[in-house]
Amino acid sequence: MSSRRKFLEKLTGSAVALAVLPKVVSAGGRGNDSRTLRVAIMGLGSYGTRVADAMQSCTRAKLVGAISGTPSKLVDWQRKYGIAAKNCYNYSNFDAVRDNPDIDAVYVITPNALHHDQVIRVARAGKHVICEKPMATDAKLAQEMVDACDKADVKLLVGYRMHFEPKTLEIIRMRKAGDFGKIKFFQGLAGFQIGDPSQWRLNRQLAGGGAMMDIGIYAVNGARYMVGEEPVWVTAQETKTDPVKFKEGVDETIQFQFGFPGGAVASCLSTYSMNNLDRFFLDAENGWAELFPATGYGPIRGRTFKGELSQPHITHQTVQMDEMAAILFDGKQPIVPVDGREAVKDMKIIDAIFEAVRTGKKISLHL
Ligand code: NAD
Repeated sequence: MSSRRKFLEKLTGSAVALAVLPKVVSAGGRGNDSRTLRVAIMGLGSYGTRVADAMQSCTRAKLVGAISGTPSKLVDWQRKYGIAAKNCYNYSNFDAVRDNPDIDAVYVITPNALHHDQVIRVARAGKHVICEKPMATDAKLAQEMVDACDKADVKLLVGYRMHFEPKTLEIIRMRKAGDFGKIKFFQGLAGFQIGDPSQWRLNRQLAGGGAMMDIGIYAVNGARYMVGEEPVWVTAQETKTDPVKFKEGVDETIQFQFGFPGGAVASCLSTYSMNNLDRFFLDAENGWAELFPATGYGPIRGRTFKGELSQPHITHQTVQMDEMAAILFDGKQPIVPVDGREAVKDMKIIDAIFEAVRTGKKISLHL
C-alpha cells in the first residue's frame, strides 16, 4: 500500500460511514430531471478503484464503463462492477466512446500530466468530462482544456470532493452568515511522507511537480473556500532535504503565503516529507474554525468557537458523483464551484507559487 493511501486510510479511522444524505450537501432541491449519470472511469488505479467502490452507493450516478491499458483490469472490473464489455476501451481506442449512447461522461483518474490530452480527446468525442485534481500541470494547459470543452459543448468538472463535505460546508455557511466577522488569517497544512521513490508522483514528466501538485493543492484550494476570496499576491519558499528522491522540478516542501483583498493573510505548507499535516485553521474578528483532519477521506473533524461540528460523515466520492449528476443534468449550482474554470484558478496560483520560489519575489495574482 502506498504511503499516501496509508495516510488517507489513517485519517479515515474506524468510524462507520453513515448513510448518504443528499440533503446535507444540497444547496437547493434536486431538480426535476432525475436522469442517471452514466460514467466510464479512465485509469483503474488506486483512486479510480476508490471512486468505483463509492459509486456503488450512488443514487444518481452509475459506473457503466472503464478505460485502461491493461486488458486483465478491464476483465476484473467487468466482473466486479457488472460493466458491459461493449463499454470498455483502451487508451488507443477510447475516442470511439463518441458512438456509445450508454456513456454520458468519462472520469479521468490517471497521472496528472496525462489529464490534458485525455480530457481534450473525451471532449472531442462529445462526452462530459470529470477530471481529477490537479486538472493539469499548469494554467495554460488547464485553460486549453476548458476551451476544448467549451468548443465541444460538453461540461468539464473536477474531482474537488471537499466542496461537498458537510463540515466544510457548515464552516462556509457560518462565514457567509457573518458568524466569524472579518476574516483575518488562514493556515493550511497539507502533507505526508511519500514512500516508493520510483512512483509516478515523483516523476516530473508524469506528475508535473511534486507535493504541491498532489497534496499542496488542497491548501491552495482550501485557502480560497475557507477565506471566501481570491488571493491577490503570493510569496513562497522551498526547502529540499533529499535531492536524490526529490529531483529537479519535483518539490519536496514549499511554504507559501497569500494576501487577500479584504486584508486577510494565509500561511500554508505543502510537503512530501512530514506526516500529521492535514489541518485548516481560520481566524477571524469574532471567532475561529478548525478542520483536522481537513481533507482526508474522512471522517473530517471540525470545531469552531461555538463547539464541535456534528454533521455526519459521508463517503466523499459517493456524494460528489451524485451531486455532479445534478450539476450536469439539472444545472444545479454547487456551493463551491467544481468546474474547469475553478481549477484554472488553482493552476494559476500554483504557477505563481513556483515563480515566487524561483525568483524570491512577491507575485501578484489576477484571478
Ligand atoms: P495510481 O498510480 O494508483 O493510478 C493511476 C492509473 O493510471 C493506473 O491504473 C495506471 O495504470 C494508469 N496509467 C495510465 N497511463 C499511465 C502512465 N503513462 N503511467 C503511469 N500510470 C498510468 O494513481 P492514483 O492515486 O489513482 O492517482 C490518479 C489521479 O487521481 C491523480 O491525478 C491524482 O492526483 C488523483 N487523486 C485524487 C485523489 C482525491 O482525493 N481527489 C486521491 C488520489 C489521487
